[in-house]
Amino acid sequence: MHKTVIKIGGSNLKNMEDLIRIPKIIKSYREPVVLVVSAFYGVTDRLEKAVNDGQLTGRLPDGLRKMHEEALLQLVPEGEKRAVYFQNLSGCIIELEKLLQSGHKQEAPTANRIISFGERLSARVIQAVLAENGVQCQLALPEKIGLLSNRRFFQGSILLKKSAQNLQQVLQPQTTYVVPGFYAVSEKGETILLGRGGSDYSAACLAYCTDADYLDIWKDVAGYLSGDPKNIPGVKKIDRLSYLEAAELSYFGARILHPRTIRPLVSKKIKVRLLNPEKYLKTGKREPATLISNKTTKSAEIIKSVTASDDIALLKLKGSGVGIKKGILAEVTNAFDKAQLNIRSVVTSQTAIHFVFSRSDARIAKRIVDNLHRNMDFDTEIDDDIAWIAAVGQGINQKEGIAGRIFSSLARAGINVQQIVLGASEVAVYFVVKRHLAKHAAQIIHKEIFHKN
Ligand code: ASP
Ligand code: MG
Repeated sequence: MHKTVIKIGGSNLKNMEDLIRIPKIIKSYREPVVLVVSAFYGVTDRLEKAVNDGQLTGRLPDGLRKMHEEALLQLVPEGEKRAVYFQNLSGCIIELEKLLQSGHKQEAPTANRIISFGERLSARVIQAVLAENGVQCQLALPEKIGLLSNRRFFQGSILLKKSAQNLQQVLQPQTTYVVPGFYAVSEKGETILLGRGGSDYSAACLAYCTDADYLDIWKDVAGYLSGDPKNIPGVKKIDRLSYLEAAELSYFGARILHPRTIRPLVSKKIKVRLLNPEKYLKTGKREPATLISNKTTKSAEIIKSVTASDDIALLKLKGSGVGIKKGILAEVTNAFDKAQLNIRSVVTSQTAIHFVFSRSDARIAKRIVDNLHRNMDFDTEIDDDIAWIAAVGQGINQKEGIAGRIFSSLARAGINVQQIVLGASEVAVYFVVKRHLAKHAAQIIHKEIFHKN
């Protein structure tokens, strides 16, 4: 239907200049597109706070009204139409006020609806700005077009097949649409949030539903890089990544794409183009900083990027019984699942099971295991003085000597590797080092791979 779905995120919705460039970007396509937008910068945080804390609530709707009206005042010419945009905006603000005062604001259905208002407001303003600056377009709300989610509040997953059927019926190929990201609706019509940062995921699902060829993410970044430039000298930009490589890197804190973005794109081979607005406006060329597709591009070095993350902790179950008793893993992981804890990785041996969690989850996980009723016959321990490092590149497990090079270079630098995960992913090796050594370890490996001579 539409060839391209475009996403513009909150970090690029900070000020008037950001809004002024949106019509320029959309016009460059010369064909109808689907534009998915986030809330204006910082708005979702404020809504979330208002849900959780009593004080902010009163002032928030007024603040948001001013912020969004200001954009209309500056970017939409005075006249009848502007009055209508103001009215629509006002309708939203009044609903938000009511929800915040309703006494149910901390209950999941109301909280989800309240927190979705950042996108409800920004999409309305952006549609107006586009329409009044030469881009004919319509607002397409998830509840109107049938973008459906399961009923998991705050962390919904879009029902791709059903949503695709709905969208194919209602969206017109000749029309450009503006869609608020970050939420979808349950089959009962409730607002379901898709997780913080989730409008990338909305956009990916819309690309799936409309059979798009491209998902264009406009973002002020240089592209994916071979390492964190704050920590590593001489990093290189990565021109192409495979889906798997991009997925591994986004789970590892390369904060470019939300980790859930890749999955809906794979079966239809929808390409992701990462585009920098500033660069486009300077050069007039729409060249992706990084292109993500199903192509396996092997670089000479194999490894494309080295990243470190210290938001991890190990929960260790230790005891000689671990290897003999059946059902331990099942019982423990079931309990984690019930508590909605996300296990990032598991490494097992006959005398120990190590779970990798984000730091905040590890403590909860330990409590859960300690409270399991039956006598599990092992000790639990948390190690959170660690970081993990990932080396990512297609072919990493197929070529001899790569792991050897990584670990010898660390050994030469006197860095001890505490744990290794190799072979589970086709494109990544993970390993654990002491927290204070993470930066140094990433530098050493980057140098070994990219600046050997
Ligand atoms: N506005 C939402 C958030 O800040 C969704 C997004 O920006 O992707 O989490
Ligand atoms: Mg945001």
